[in-house]
Amino acid sequence: MNLIDVSTNLQTEDQCLDFIEKVRWADGKIRCVRCGNDKVSRITRTVNPKITRTEKKQNKRTRLYACLESTCKHRFTPTVGTLFHDSHLPLNKWFAAVALIVHAKKGMSAKQVQRHLGVNYRTAWYMGHRIRKAMASGEGILSNPGSGGHGAKLSGTVEIDETYVGGTTIRKKERGNQKSYQRKAAVVGMIERGGELRLRHVGAGNTTAAQVRPLLHELVDRSVDRVMTDESTIYPFAFDGFCASKHETIAHKYEYVRGDVHTNTIESAFSLFKRGVFGSFHRVSHKHLQRYLYEFEYRFNRRTTPDLFGETVANLVGTKPMEYRQLVS
Ligand SMILES: [Zn+2]
Repeated sequence: MNLIDVSTNLQTEDQCLDFIEKVRWADGKIRCVRCGNDKVSRITRTVNPKITRTEKKQNKRTRLYACLESTCKHRFTPTVGTLFHDSHLPLNKWFAAVALIVHAKKGMSAKQVQRHLGVNYRTAWYMGHRIRKAMASGEGILSNPGSGGHGAKLSGTVEIDETYVGGTTIRKKERGNQKSYQRKAAVVGMIERGGELRLRHVGAGNTTAAQVRPLLHELVDRSVDRVMTDESTIYPFAFDGFCASKHETIAHKYEYVRGDVHTNTIESAFSLFKRGVFGSFHRVSHKHLQRYLYEFEYRFNRRTTPDLFGETVANLVGTKPMEYRQLVS
């Protein structure tokens, strides 16, 4: 679904609840969330127009199910246990925010979400972070486990490089000035040629072998054919004992491509990320950078997925709510 489909087909609370049910119970059988029984009865609540503020906060959904298993009799809403459950925001705003964020190639700032949806800044910021959390690969995906990034290790030909973001943009060639460099956030990127991308924020200032080594173990499969990096001296140390025989380097001082040895794929992913970050977000704090990296990774790795919206809602339905307090702490 694109933005227009979402705004026309997911307008009312009923339409949104139908959609959540379709994603959550894909076989059409609504099951009790406590005992798993599929014999449930539907109760439609009428919403009191004079609804109080506290009731609104308690999130009274108009649709409710009651489990018919005599020992259970649990009552639940279609949104219970999902990210939408304790939100006082109308579901159509949530869906519009998802559509905006997943389809914005360069990312979308809270300010932009605020303008498009007519919500306040704090709400827009909060929605964005919750949606990004669902986009963080592998996190809380119930509907299709293993589809997230954490599951699959990179293999085949892998390119690794590091980049620095934050403050004013400096190009890699101008790296000489170590001082202006220290405050920047270091990001290690790995990409399987013809496969997926991984971006990890490893700290501030220069990347070290000690930061790269655990990432190699975590993200790269031992069966990898070749791993390509630039001539940076951290890599021989990082590879020490890990697929060192498969490590090939390109010395950027002299050449950029030698046969098929190059790091152009990861470098173009970096420049795409930087154009996005600096185009849409004026400043991304170190604290939240990894979430933006996950968001970019998510979109990049699914650039050919036909229904990014549906897949993201499925992730949201499987994601436990995250409290505002938790985000800002
Ligand atoms: Zn039950």
